[in-house]
Amino acid sequence: MKKVISVIAPMYNESSLVHEYCAEMLKIARKIEENYYLEIILVNDGSKDDTLDIMREEQMKHSKEISIVCLSRNFGLEGAVNAGLRKAKGDAVIVMDADLQDPPTLIPDMLEKWENGYDVVVCSRIKRSNDSFFKKFTARLYYKILDSLSGKLKLEQSAANFRLLSKKAVEQILLLPEVNSVFRVVVPYIGMKTAVIGYDRDKRFAGETKYNFSKMLPYAMDSITGISIEPLRKIVYFMPVSLIISAFGLGMFFVHSGFLSHIYLVLFFVGICFSMFFVGIAVMSEYIAQIFKEVKGRPSSIIYEYLPADCVKERIDDELC
Ligand code: UDP
Ligand code: MG
Repeated sequence: MKKVISVIAPMYNESSLVHEYCAEMLKIARKIEENYYLEIILVNDGSKDDTLDIMREEQMKHSKEISIVCLSRNFGLEGAVNAGLRKAKGDAVIVMDADLQDPPTLIPDMLEKWENGYDVVVCSRIKRSNDSFFKKFTARLYYKILDSLSGKLKLEQSAANFRLLSKKAVEQILLLPEVNSVFRVVVPYIGMKTAVIGYDRDKRFAGETKYNFSKMLPYAMDSITGISIEPLRKIVYFMPVSLIISAFGLGMFFVHSGFLSHIYLVLFFVGICFSMFFVGIAVMSEYIAQIFKEVKGRPSSIIYEYLPADCVKERIDDELC
């Protein structure tokens, strides 16, 4: 039986590119039809233009391939991706932007990696020649910060949502209980065998980016706070800085005399007060970090495979009965 591949494309006010996106995906469907069925999942993320009407037109013409998931309002990219994952029926699932910046022609290569045993195939942008200087600069900064906070997680530089996940990987992502689930940071969290493919990011086919600076900032904060509690822990580093200022104040107090020495004495006391303040904040941050982890309710680890010894197999069968 042919395997099914689901491709999820979130769309918000993308009426100018629904037809083209579907046409490109249908070309891929024809290309791989010998071995696979392609399910094209169009997620309408509360669009205010006629994106949904055009999606319906496309579905009338290509009902075999096209599914539509329509959200009740605009939830943002992450909510749309998650809705697509919940409805995807494929043996493997691919998430991509709808504006054709993620080239659909990469899909056969992703499938090849998946067939070779990879659960996750990450497409990483080696070149962003079509992005503005500002976009490239902020993106580089964002990935650098994420990487420095990622701890045990292995993040691929410049890898956004264009990824393939095996059914097993999708199941694990959907088991994570958090609401603030940023796809590009929860995929590395689940681990599993991961392959990377590099590509040059194309220009947007039509329409405008939905992520200007004011929308990018909360998105970046969601991923940073979603990936780690390190920013809370780093507060403690302010304490030695305050102590150094304080020691400097004390040293200068002995060197200078008169009015200036009084200023340095004040600096000494201010430094001491701030270092005590940062110790207090650091202790509180540790507790907040623990609350954060507990509230998230993530499992402490994910078992990929369990190969029981013969001597316990019978017990496992009994448990299942
Ligand atoms: N998108 C969405 N909901 C939103 C904003 C964006 O589903 O609230 C979709 C959008 O239609 C596109 C993808 O997310 O398919 C990426 O958005 P965009 O191309 O604007 O981001 P950029 O590539 O500029 O970072
Ligand atoms: Mg885009």
